[in-house]
Amino acid sequence: MTGDTPPPPERVPPDDLAVTGAGEAGGPPDDVAVVGAGVGGGPSHDLAVGGAGVAGGPPDDVAVVGGGVAGGPSHDVAVGGAGEAGSPPYDLAVIGGGPAGVAGALTAAMRGLRVVLVDSGVRLGGQYFRHRDGPPEKFARQVRALRERAEIMTGRQVWAVTREESGFTVRCLGGTAVRSRRLLIATGAYDRPLPFPGWDLPGVLTAGGAQALLKGHGVVAGRRVVVAGTGPFLLPVAAGLAAAGAGVAGVYEANGGLGLARHPLLALGKAGEAAGYLATLARNRVPYRTRHAVVAAHGDRELEAVTVARLDRDWNVLATRRVPCDALATGYGFVPQIELGVQLGCATRPDADGTPVLTVDAAQRTTVPGVWAAGEPTGVGGRHLAVTEGRIAGLSIAADGAPVRALLRRRARLRAFAAALHAAYPLKPGWQTWLTDDTLVCRCEEVPLAGIREAQQLGATDARSAKLLSRAGMGWCQGRICAHSVAALTGTSPPAPRRPLAQPISLADLATLAPHDSTVRGATPCDSTASDPTASDPTASDPTASDPTASDPTASDPTASDPAVEETP
Ligand SMILES: Cc1cc2nc3c(=O)[nH]c(=O)nc-3n(C[C@H](O)[C@H](O)[C@H](O)COP(=O)(O)OP(=O)(O)OC[C@H]3O[C@@H](n4cnc5c(N)ncnc54)[C@H](O)[C@@H]3O)c2cc1C
Repeated sequence: MTGDTPPPPERVPPDDLAVTGAGEAGGPPDDVAVVGAGVGGGPSHDLAVGGAGVAGGPPDDVAVVGGGVAGGPSHDVAVGGAGEAGSPPYDLAVIGGGPAGVAGALTAAMRGLRVVLVDSGVRLGGQYFRHRDGPPEKFARQVRALRERAEIMTGRQVWAVTREESGFTVRCLGGTAVRSRRLLIATGAYDRPLPFPGWDLPGVLTAGGAQALLKGHGVVAGRRVVVAGTGPFLLPVAAGLAAAGAGVAGVYEANGGLGLARHPLLALGKAGEAAGYLATLARNRVPYRTRHAVVAAHGDRELEAVTVARLDRDWNVLATRRVPCDALATGYGFVPQIELGVQLGCATRPDADGTPVLTVDAAQRTTVPGVWAAGEPTGVGGRHLAVTEGRIAGLSIAADGAPVRALLRRRARLRAFAAALHAAYPLKPGWQTWLTDDTLVCRCEEVPLAGIREAQQLGATDARSAKLLSRAGMGWCQGRICAHSVAALTGTSPPAPRRPLAQPISLADLATLAPHDSTVRGATPCDSTASDPTASDPTASDPTASDPTASDPTASDPTASDPAVEETP
């Protein structure tokens, strides 16, 4: 359907679901961990650590490639709903079909907005709902409801968003472009690995990659798997692998064991869930060790063993031993995916752990008129927070003055919970002592620690100057994997990702920005900042303009029948 005339809304709450476990069948081909594969098969945002990029990635320093990108559609030069010049066919384009994007899209569509949702995956659900046998029924119902009310475009990787006179143009690999008056950025996050000797061996992958393989494809990462890193995400990964029959040789949490107990919020919110995972680990006789980390991986052609270290509070090594394994799933948190917002000029702020996230106000509006953000791009906080933010954004965009006090309370609780998680599972500087001079920090450009140190001797004082002098971060993944580490090694916080092209693209895609652009009628080519989308229609950028209550989502009281205020424990 085109979304031109949305049918009368049926009450289908875009709520979050208390379901864990496997993901949707056949997840997107571009977001699954592939041990030993190059990054070039698609976005690197949640891919394998081990062996990725080094052999397969070209020694190129630009993100523009000559061919199409695997996994994406062919160059079909489709006009994805682009309408007549000056009148975008959609009121809202949602980028990202995870929990946040679906909640935001459905909330807005149920209020009569013409909505299009664009996602790079083959199915909706994002990182959480990638269940092999189909998503849980509640989420499936929401997706069905969304399909009836909105246009859903899957398999479309957005590489740029440009501002036009009357809104925005969302540009996808393959030539599809979509025009809309407003935008909701719900692009999620990707894994954050840390470097250590041998982390580029085939067999080493991210925790999220291992989870994606298991949930999306029913594939266990190895016969004997080690899970290491920090944060509560290690638990479902290890428990899932153990339950699926993998031999899990150990779970190594670099922070202290008191992480959960120390924080009442954590204890309140997640103690039960954590206990369930720990019980699974215990049943499968999987050792769980705190203040331990994998500090080296070994193997001739592929992973054969890891060095596990006992750590002090700052993650300096106290003692080591070798653990045989054929797979290592490692994860040190997530990095919000905010390129598209940064492209548009949205302000960023450092999250609790210093990672840049998009700044949003109480109604999830970014600092750029007409652009909202929800979910991990505004700060890593898990699925429940993502859904809550998505709903608040949807209500704000629909500008119907919908009551959301309960949602705001819920969001505040979940944000406090997320902040507590960050505090309980920080990255400690001792990881830098795990590296040797020849440890690759940037795998795409094969820049070792010595290369970063040399850049520093030449005067580099931050990640950007270290990048310019060493090429770290200039390869296929454009710093997605190494930017955090390079910044930390130079003693600075990771900078906001300034990538004019959010994904590696073909020259044909790039050409769609040319003045003779035939893919988007009415679009203003090349200049993403000159025009002001509010110029011709002030309400396009500010949904509160016609409805004063929308600026204050607490203005009116919740009504029981409104799905957006449903409280989920
Ligand atoms: C690899 C990985 C695995 C995870 N597994 C779990 C898990 O098993 N359990 C759990 O509780 N939490 C998991 N998480 C945490 C999870 O991210 C959040 O709990 C939750 O999914 C966040 O929802 P979201 O909607 O903000 O983002 P996501 O669920 O990440 O959804 C973002 C969506 O945006 C799409 N997208 C991103 N960029 C583009 C683009 N340029 N063009 C088009 N589409 C784009 C993605 O395809 C994705 O569908 C995982 C995170 C990662 C990175």
